[in-house]
Amino acid sequence: MSARFPDFRLGKVLATSFTGTLSERRGDTVERIPTPNRLVDWLAVSGLAVESCTAAQLERAWELRESIHAAATAAASRAPLPASAVQVINDCSTQGRAAAALTPEGNREWRLGPASSVEDALGVIAADAISIVAGERDGKLALCASPTCQAAFFDTSQSRTRRWCDMNTCGNRQKKARFNAHKHENPGSAK
Ligand SMILES: [Zn+2]
Repeated sequence: MSARFPDFRLGKVLATSFTGTLSERRGDTVERIPTPNRLVDWLAVSGLAVESCTAAQLERAWELRESIHAAATAAASRAPLPASAVQVINDCSTQGRAAAALTPEGNREWRLGPASSVEDALGVIAADAISIVAGERDGKLALCASPTCQAAFFDTSQSRTRRWCDMNTCGNRQKKARFNAHKHENPGSAK
């Protein structure tokens, strides 16, 4: 039987796309990788295909995810990075075996070997997180303005003034809430 799971919301940045597999952290939390197989699915659509995943590997993935979330949130708020989060990110990065490869278009991509494990994929995600938290990439870490979300996202807009982690979800929801509040305040006002 196939259970229905929440859809993935894939972003352009691997590390924050990964932290986005748990959404609405400050509201009605949605877990988008609740089972080992769901993590395998997420890794496949993220270009990190692995054969299988155990319950322990899923636990490790969750641990890395929350560590990246904590480190990215601290970096976005210019707070000191939590030592435990740094430790988990570094351990995952050290344990992964993946190779940087150059595509014909001149981009860098990560390549896993044919016998790659979840640890190798987590290593790639950890390395991606390190590059954004370290400020190596063109963009800025920011926190989503939705009070129930507050996800850390990587703002690559020209002006660096993006407010929502995802315009289609958090941005639209906020707009709707404001619109409804406005209607409530001004019943019958024709504008
Ligand atoms: Zn958000």
